[in-house]
Amino acid sequence: MPLRGLAKRLRELFARGGVDEGLLEDLEDALVEADIGARISAELVDGLRTELKAGRAGGRDEVVGLLRARLRGMVVARPLVLPRGTLTVLLVLGVNGVGKTTTIAKLARWYQRSQGIESTVLVAGDTFRAAAIDQLRLLGERLGLPVVAQEPGADPGAVIFDGIASARARGAELVIADTAGRLHNREALVKELAKIDRIVRAKAPGDASRRLLVLDATTGQNALAQAEVFHAAVGVDAMVLAKYDSTAKGGMVVPISRALGVPFAFVGIGEKPEDLEPFDIERYLESLLG
Ligand code: GDP
Repeated sequence: MPLRGLAKRLRELFARGGVDEGLLEDLEDALVEADIGARISAELVDGLRTELKAGRAGGRDEVVGLLRARLRGMVVARPLVLPRGTLTVLLVLGVNGVGKTTTIAKLARWYQRSQGIESTVLVAGDTFRAAAIDQLRLLGERLGLPVVAQEPGADPGAVIFDGIASARARGAELVIADTAGRLHNREALVKELAKIDRIVRAKAPGDASRRLLVLDATTGQNALAQAEVFHAAVGVDAMVLAKYDSTAKGGMVVPISRALGVPFAFVGIGEKPEDLEPFDIERYLESLLG
């Protein structure tokens, strides 16, 4: 994970001298600038102020160490390991443009590489956009994976129903289903997702399905609003932070973790199917704080 703007800013701040009130104010601005959010940034700096008064935050190493410890307690990260020998349905959620299709390719590749899951079926559950269906078909060709799709305008619930049935018939272990992401019509989207979710839960009960939300790291605080909508609609199980390579920020992981308590499972670091890593909290904190 590349070094963030905040890490560089921290170096500059401490190059000026010791820790004082002026530095703490600048630090608070830098935390807000990194998308950590105004409230959490103020809370972090208040904590440092207390430590400073108690004589425990004299220099850069202490301050970074304290920030690291506090953030470690706020960020939720957990790998998404799939059960074997049974069918799992991954419902991939996210607003259009966040990197959902790219992430589907990455997930298929990841589970093949890390868990040896070869028998994956892709499902074109975003039936609203003809381009989304075409993109998924192309992806299937490229990865050598079957794609279950219908014509644009088809009922997404029916496509996903078919996709799961087809995967069972083939003895596949994994279904990765695309879903719609038209956030400008929030009510319709939430209704559609809730319906799809009911079908998935009926066809793949218990532990056999996961809802994976893709967030675009370049959208900052907006990602929090998106996460809240999707979590309220279907109950998100895990998140992917896409395009982490395309931003100098990335601090929104903190307020999103705080607000939802849902783990970040993966981070996207490029456009290729290989460019996916498990979300590692220590590496994340290292890239954020230096
Ligand atoms: P969708 O509309 O959500 O399905 O988004 P796409 O998967 O089509 O991705 C939108 C754009 O973001 C494409 O140009 C992708 O190549 C790019 N993209 C997706 N994930 C990443 C990532 O992790 N890093 C970078 N740099 N680009 C990404």
